[in-house]
Amino acid sequence: MRTLAGVDGCRRGWLAAVAHGDGRHELRVFASLAALLSALPADALIAVDMPIGLPERIRGPGRAAEQAARPLLARRSASLFSMPARSAVEAWNGPHGSAAERAAAHARASALARAASEPPRGVSRQGFMLFPRILEIDRLLRADPALRARVFESHPETAFAVLNGAQPMAHPKKHGGRASGPGMAERRALLAAHGVPAALLAAARPAGAGEDDRIDACAMLLVARAIAAGRARSLPEPPERDAHMLPIAIWVPRAPLCSAEETGLEALQTSDGAMMTLLPDTLLSGYRSFVQGRYLQETQTYRALARDGQTPETMVIACCDSRAAPETIFGAGAGELFVARNVANLVPPYNPDGEFHGTSAALEFAVQALKVRNIVVMGHGRCGGIKAALSPGSEPLSPGDFIGKWMSILQPVAETVAANALMTSGERQTALERISIRTSIANLRTFPYIAARERAGELRLCGAWFDISTAELWAMDPETGDFQRPLVDVEDAVI
Ligand SMILES: [Zn+2]
Repeated sequence: MRTLAGVDGCRRGWLAAVAHGDGRHELRVFASLAALLSALPADALIAVDMPIGLPERIRGPGRAAEQAARPLLARRSASLFSMPARSAVEAWNGPHGSAAERAAAHARASALARAASEPPRGVSRQGFMLFPRILEIDRLLRADPALRARVFESHPETAFAVLNGAQPMAHPKKHGGRASGPGMAERRALLAAHGVPAALLAAARPAGAGEDDRIDACAMLLVARAIAAGRARSLPEPPERDAHMLPIAIWVPRAPLCSAEETGLEALQTSDGAMMTLLPDTLLSGYRSFVQGRYLQETQTYRALARDGQTPETMVIACCDSRAAPETIFGAGAGELFVARNVANLVPPYNPDGEFHGTSAALEFAVQALKVRNIVVMGHGRCGGIKAALSPGSEPLSPGDFIGKWMSILQPVAETVAANALMTSGERQTALERISIRTSIANLRTFPYIAARERAGELRLCGAWFDISTAELWAMDPETGDFQRPLVDVEDAVI
């Protein structure tokens, strides 16, 4: 694997959080950037909290990169200093022997900055303090163009805001010049949640680097990782270039995804100017609200599920019908239900004949791999599949008649119910919807491992029927096969 490094300026030089190609992690201080580069492999990718690329003139508050990053920072935007034009930075003549010398140099830099900016703008004290380091990196990148493809400018607070779901952090990192406890804790938690190992977050800190430097170097490491994985974007996009062809951009991770633009799902401009989308608009806007709502609220849950895998306790076999979605009806979140949906929520009998059996494959995985403790067959009112089974003579929807073949799982009970002249068609429909649930449960028991686990008390087989118009949920009595309602008093919930 490629070596990645996140780098932040510190008292004694540069603090690097390094993820070595062999899997080791290291926190190390280098006296110079040149020393850091020569200590790492020649293809190491580095994200550094230091401006790269200096325009000849500045229009507005800082470089376009700072202007593009500031909206993300909102109330933390004071952490991002506006950089002046190259002439002001190059006027640095330190180190300065006295405060008066330094103040004079600062005044000179500010005058140059004002002359090269619209509207005229001086240099902040903090920005001025960065000049020697900006020049250090500037000289390296101008001397060796190959470095421009692997040394990237970033900014910790902007990266944190993106990782925090496009929101600035709740607490400042520093308070009155000192590290703030809550601010450091929330950043450390965010780094850990994004996979920064304890080897970096909890290791002894090298002399000459502060705790805030460690946090920032680790944030830069996440940016380096995102760039290496093609999961980063530049602010602005594409980067500007200065007169020496150095890129001018602040790089940030794309995740968590917070807009369709970042997912690449945004509308595409076709050559004739018409707009086309890669997915239907309703899906894109639904996805946007998912990411900004549920995903943001439950980011930790989603990450834990990604890391640890799924362990749902219940499998639901439901109909494809768009009005009977099990996750909605049972209020289930990510990782809670293992769902197989097919026409009319049928379970075919166990039949290992080498053919294509989607539902049986899902059952095999749920029972043998996930070891679910419950299987619920959920039917529903007004089921189109059941209706088709009750009118066997009707014309198939296509010559293949897949529905007719699939619904033949219910023969001969479907024929018996269809022939019952004493019932109305509505009664026949509801009756077959419920009989089909009992049939599916009987078919579940033909799978040897399901029957064995049920006998051992490790698996429960349940039936349920849902009516969309009243939101009634009826549950099957395992002894009698009768359906009882309602489990919850729906009327109480109606306002
Ligand atoms: Zn259905």
